[in-house]
Amino acid sequence: MSQRDYYEVLGVGRDASDSEIKSAYRKLALKYHPDRNKDEGAAEKFKEATEAYSVLSDADKRARYDRFGHAGVAGGPGGGGVPVDFSDIFSQFSDIFGGRGGGNGGGIFETLFGFGGGDRGRNAGRPGRSLRAAVEISLAEVLQGTERVLALRRNETCSSCHGNGTAPGGKRETCSTCGGQGSVHQQQGFFAVRTACPRCQGEGTLITKPCGTCRGSGLELKEREIEVHIPAGIEDGAQIRLSGQGESGRNGAPNGDLFVEVHVLEQSGFHREGRDLYTEVPLTWPQAVLGDKIIVATLDGEARMSVPAGTPSGKLFRIAGQGLPRLHGGPRGDLLVRVYVEVPKKITREQKSLVKKLRALEEKNLKKANK
Ligand SMILES: [Zn+2]
Ligand SMILES: [Zn+2]
Repeated sequence: MSQRDYYEVLGVGRDASDSEIKSAYRKLALKYHPDRNKDEGAAEKFKEATEAYSVLSDADKRARYDRFGHAGVAGGPGGGGVPVDFSDIFSQFSDIFGGRGGGNGGGIFETLFGFGGGDRGRNAGRPGRSLRAAVEISLAEVLQGTERVLALRRNETCSSCHGNGTAPGGKRETCSTCGGQGSVHQQQGFFAVRTACPRCQGEGTLITKPCGTCRGSGLELKEREIEVHIPAGIEDGAQIRLSGQGESGRNGAPNGDLFVEVHVLEQSGFHREGRDLYTEVPLTWPQAVLGDKIIVATLDGEARMSVPAGTPSGKLFRIAGQGLPRLHGGPRGDLLVRVYVEVPKKITREQKSLVKKLRALEEKNLKKANK
């Protein structure tokens, strides 16, 4: 993947002063900040500019970049971006990003770069994990829609400490190893690698007296029963999202979601294709030849169907409105009935003699036709 030159990204010359670089980045950050600019590609431009600025604003990184190019400042062997130090960018442009520890300002960095910005640490709001579950339903339930109760275990905000992780009298202190950033730089030759702080495990803070219930995690495992409504017409493999029903977020961060995958069980006698159902019905040879009125089992009952005289085996009939509903309402699909002529394996003496008569008759007709 080719990367644009950082000077080009910021639109400054190679001899640009620190203040020129700073003001170039400010302009770009204001222009492409994803909170303000929803255009396609804006987030990418913002990310690119931020990365360029994080390198060119640091004398040491800039020198390495001038000398070795992108390789001199890359995240490490095997890729990864430049380890961007957000805390600096945060404090320098607090007017744009909401200041140090300022509310959601760092969310943008977390979203774009995959980890938290600056001194927010990771503790300052971590969204809850999303959970997955699966249910099996019958075709008949697809017809009507149905309910299921899911029993699951999920981490919820700790009831003893209300999520802050401290026991009474305890408190949360900034981790001195990482200065609250949750991550530390490690120099490996050319490469500056950012890793989670080993002391606070990336939290950025340490607790003097952890809560006895959650051991400081702020989360407590709970067993819950969650009711899920499965709408009529749902397709096999569809996913239902229960917003906010995943694990609890921390420090005001949003909960995860619960994704329920729906498997529709096959039902013997019916094959589903979208809204339509297919079924097969045997006919006797006389029924196929002479025609008949037959009764066909539908998903939720039965329907009458006329088979006209002279119906060939394999012919498809359509019974309107006996299929499945569309997911968000609308008329039901159809039931397609394929008839086939069943040849009996065992017949009575009388039947045998009648079939033989029939054969004799057909042979006679055949000779006539050949004359
Ligand atoms: Zn607790
Ligand atoms: Zn730490």
